[in-house]
Amino acid sequence: MAITVLLDDQPFAGGDTGRPVGKIVCVGRNYADHAAELNNPVPTEPILFIKPATALANISPYFSIPLDQGECHIETEIALLIGSEIARATDYQAQMAIAGIGIGLDLTLRERQSELKAKGLPWEKAKAFDGSCPISGFISPADDEDWENLDIRLERNHAVQQAGNSGQMLTPILPLMGHITAHFTLMPGDIVLTGTPAGVGPLSPGDELTLGLGSAAGDMALQTEVVAKVP
Ligand code: ZN
Repeated sequence: MAITVLLDDQPFAGGDTGRPVGKIVCVGRNYADHAAELNNPVPTEPILFIKPATALANISPYFSIPLDQGECHIETEIALLIGSEIARATDYQAQMAIAGIGIGLDLTLRERQSELKAKGLPWEKAKAFDGSCPISGFISPADDEDWENLDIRLERNHAVQQAGNSGQMLTPILPLMGHITAHFTLMPGDIVLTGTPAGVGPLSPGDELTLGLGSAAGDMALQTEVVAKVP
């Protein structure tokens, strides 16, 4: 099991894999309990959006949030690092293409997103801004990885705020990869964020976070702190 050690103040550079950073494909409302907490209907097919490579930032020892655009919510998500090019992937092809499992944050300017949604406009200003995807290093999946039994967890200021399992996803990881790659070819170095369980909420500078991921390949635990983005 290899967990990347990320250096202070260094931009994310493809983890320990030497791969170039690519796009980040994200899914909205992939856990019914999260759709319900924001009073959103459960979607009939996965809601997809993309963050650019400039959204990536190291998740620890700290990451920054903007303070001038309303509440910045944390969404804690299982992240997948793509290791080979795939399009219209079967479950087997999807499984073979996943080179790593990690923790990604889908930082969301919730008030901006609500304004954009009300006007029927795209979400990028709320979800794709610089630094909107703090990302951990990745561990290699086990040969017999159980994609429907990965745990993801967030403690904020020593209280559990999010605790989910990939078995709760509306579209499980491997079919989700098939759906994504029906629309977007995934390339080595791309990252997939698989949606957030319930418990999203605003962050403040000084918040102390403990993040955890559990998989057949091993567990990942990391600590980080929220700081204010310098305008
Ligand atoms: Zn999300």
